[in-house]
Amino acid sequence: MKITNYKKYFVSQLSSRYPTEEILSFFYILAEVFLNKTRFQLSLDTNATLTEIQHQQFENGLQRLKQNEPIQYIVGVTEFYGIPFKVTPATLIPRPETEELVDWILNSEINIQHSELKILDIGTGSGCIAISLAKNLTTASVSAIDFSKEALTIAAGNAKNNKVEVSFHQIDVLATNSLPDKYDIIVSNPPYVRELEKKMMQANVTEYEPSSALFVEDDNPFIFYEKITYLAKKHLTSNGLLYFEINEYLSEELMQLIESIGFSGVICKKDMFGKPRMIRCKLK
Ligand code: GLN
Repeated sequence: MKITNYKKYFVSQLSSRYPTEEILSFFYILAEVFLNKTRFQLSLDTNATLTEIQHQQFENGLQRLKQNEPIQYIVGVTEFYGIPFKVTPATLIPRPETEELVDWILNSEINIQHSELKILDIGTGSGCIAISLAKNLTTASVSAIDFSKEALTIAAGNAKNNKVEVSFHQIDVLATNSLPDKYDIIVSNPPYVRELEKKMMQANVTEYEPSSALFVEDDNPFIFYEKITYLAKKHLTSNGLLYFEINEYLSEELMQLIESIGFSGVICKKDMFGKPRMIRCKLK
């Protein structure tokens, strides 16, 4: 079958669920993986055809998209801060907001490029924060923890594939009273979506991504932030910085909580959509 014809069929099959542009981007992501061809290469070769096996691969992808499965789990990889990451349903799919958090750390006014900083990422998931920091801070020593063994296996594979050293530890942050070392930077993107916000979310998130990485109880939304901030108080070096990704609806209360635990210079930064999304603070 000609690829151009299959593409029309593919778009028509998903048009009741997704906007056309998004369907086309799914199609080209599948094409990169199954045909090893970019959108540009396909556009040059309008007579290209699908083999029977390739056709079956696309059909399988199509059926999974119809079940709301995220394209990143279907192909098993995504990109974060310009480098590839393997993802499975054991890990959250890295978000663009989190790239902005990494960018904020890398471009902070302190001189982090050439110092031998110790950095810890709490709740690392696919390892995206820790690994992209390690990739860009060649003199830093980066560690990462997660409660999930499955996630740590994926994260370790991602560190290896991206040729960086990250030291991973299986630790449940809610169940521990100490961290492995002292750090200059502690960063975390913990679960922060309240159950009450679930109904505003897309099925591809709520049905497929690990709920343990996303949701917190409505009446205790800061459970992770509070614990991490107390741990950071003990485990940051004297000029150490604590960075968080945060729930856009709870920035004010969270800033107050962090100050009350003993941090100062609490700054909140907006993401590209203008939503309060990141916090940075330092030990008083
Ligand atoms: N930003 C993610 C989402 O809205 C949530 C990430 C998190 O809970 N840490 O799906």
